[in-house]
Amino acid sequence: MGKIVFSILLKVIFRMTSGNPRQFNCRDESARFQLLIFTFSCEDFLWKYYKKSPNIRNFRHIRYINSKGGDSMPKARKRKDTQFDNKIVKSVFLYGNPTKDKTDKIRAMQIAFTKLINQYIQKLIGSNEFTMQLVKADKKDSKIRAFEKVIRPKGVNAAYGQNAFDIALTQLSNRFDNIRIDMCKECESVFTKSKVLFAMSIDGKSRMDMIDSIKKISAAIKSKKDSSFYDDCAKQLAEMKDSEFNFAQHEFRVIYDMVSCEYKIPYVKRSQIPLDSRIMEIKPSEDIKAPYVISISNMLDVGGPKIVVPLNTSKHSLHKIQTRKMAGMVSISMDIQRCLKVDWSYQNCVSQPKTSKMIGVDTGISDAFHTSDNKAIGSMSPVIDFYKNVVETSFASLSDMRNKKRSIRHYLRRHKNLPEDVRRSLIQKMDKLEQMIQKAKVPYRKNRHYYEMLDHEIKSSIDEYIASIDHETLTVLEKLDIKEFNCSRKSNGKRSMFARGQLQKKLMETLNWKGYDFKEIEPAYTSQACPVCSYTDKTNRDNKRFKCQCCGYEADADYVGALNIRARADDKEILDVCEKYKYKHDEMQKHIKMVYHARNEKYKAEATEAM
Ligand SMILES: [Zn+2]
Repeated sequence: MGKIVFSILLKVIFRMTSGNPRQFNCRDESARFQLLIFTFSCEDFLWKYYKKSPNIRNFRHIRYINSKGGDSMPKARKRKDTQFDNKIVKSVFLYGNPTKDKTDKIRAMQIAFTKLINQYIQKLIGSNEFTMQLVKADKKDSKIRAFEKVIRPKGVNAAYGQNAFDIALTQLSNRFDNIRIDMCKECESVFTKSKVLFAMSIDGKSRMDMIDSIKKISAAIKSKKDSSFYDDCAKQLAEMKDSEFNFAQHEFRVIYDMVSCEYKIPYVKRSQIPLDSRIMEIKPSEDIKAPYVISISNMLDVGGPKIVVPLNTSKHSLHKIQTRKMAGMVSISMDIQRCLKVDWSYQNCVSQPKTSKMIGVDTGISDAFHTSDNKAIGSMSPVIDFYKNVVETSFASLSDMRNKKRSIRHYLRRHKNLPEDVRRSLIQKMDKLEQMIQKAKVPYRKNRHYYEMLDHEIKSSIDEYIASIDHETLTVLEKLDIKEFNCSRKSNGKRSMFARGQLQKKLMETLNWKGYDFKEIEPAYTSQACPVCSYTDKTNRDNKRFKCQCCGYEADADYVGALNIRARADDKEILDVCEKYKYKHDEMQKHIKMVYHARNEKYKAEATEAM
């Protein structure tokens, strides 16, 4: 026990002394300084511990990856047995230029609304009663809705109040989610894996209560497959001894306290105001030039005159508004230039595809896409080469000039008693270089051109791929590893990684938008494993060629990658391994390799038998 507390204490110190006040609430300089002194005073001991414990060493690294990645990628649809997410929300922008009077009113509304959100956040945090609803982001729960009605300040319209409350709830529930995911990495147990148990552990509920609620949830779920997770949790809880349970709860508490203080209570600085049909109306205009008019009921003057602003938009958006079914919900915000922005959302409804066919897709550079039916689509090599040969060299000549200028300056500084005319001519030369540097636009133009080329190539490759599949095809993709982006030191490597990431992201977005189904799989060893005998080794791959060192199978390396990706989508054994070691990446890779190894042994045994 003492060891655990000590290790936690250490982690706190390491984070506090790392001096990132944004991550940690410890703004007080002197407190941090004292901690630093404390750390120094037992440095030897700490260092020994630090060296021994890889967990601590990796800690900041993990956080870095966590804070960088994740959200930027579009999420793959959950396929399993859950419902197909057939509502995709996009929005069009409209903008208006209200008069000064109206601008002031809307601005005041925005400030009041933001204040209201923060009030709700404080009230929710203070109440301690709604941990479960917050963890589960349950906005429809009747108890929490009643709570909103009670705490709503006087004079605030119900619609505004409810919308602000929803935002506050989302903010807090995101915070709990982050804490829970962080804790999963620290101490994986049923209490961090299950949202229900997580909430109950925070509230300090008893073991019997937990088992009861889990059983209730399990009973409410009809399909046996979905309830297996809860049955598992209930079983684990029932098998625990009391002392084990108490210890686990204690450990949970300590780690929860530590992790949660790293995530500040959210404070909303400026929020858009969501408006629904109760408080807003958008209508086509009658006798003015602008195509639409929005009328908003004033939040601060309930029952008073409505704020009416004409709205304009682009031709493209206008077409969308006329052809789509627009939602009854908009968000408005005021920018600094007195421009009212209206964000009007609409849904694209797509029907559930049947997905009888599966295609594995390997994204890469020399072939943008290589599919498991051996089609190569597009290529990013020319684009990457353009960067290497044109953009980089033109930036190089720019930095040449900078270096020249710098060396002249150094020379002048070191030789103080140069003849006046030499000195003057050197200064003139320096000024000329400076002018040339200032005027240099070519590298930047070339750089822009590179991005345009990249966008174009990505778009045309995706169009070509989508034209080659139909709505019944399930596209299987690799989950792109965030770490990969950081690893590459060479700029060319970085370029390729960036291009590949963009390619995959755009592909997922397009598939999602057009209603095609896709699935992401764990990428470990997809480029090294032999599709015939499962022999897995780096030496199998030699750049573009794949040659198995065990059975001699030969093919294009990207094609092999695509085959492996496709096979993994319904490879139950490996999917189970991935699920089991979801948060322990190294273990997962080790076990995937073990699976392949076992298969290879089996293949070899069968081969010798056949002989
Ligand atoms: Zn082989």
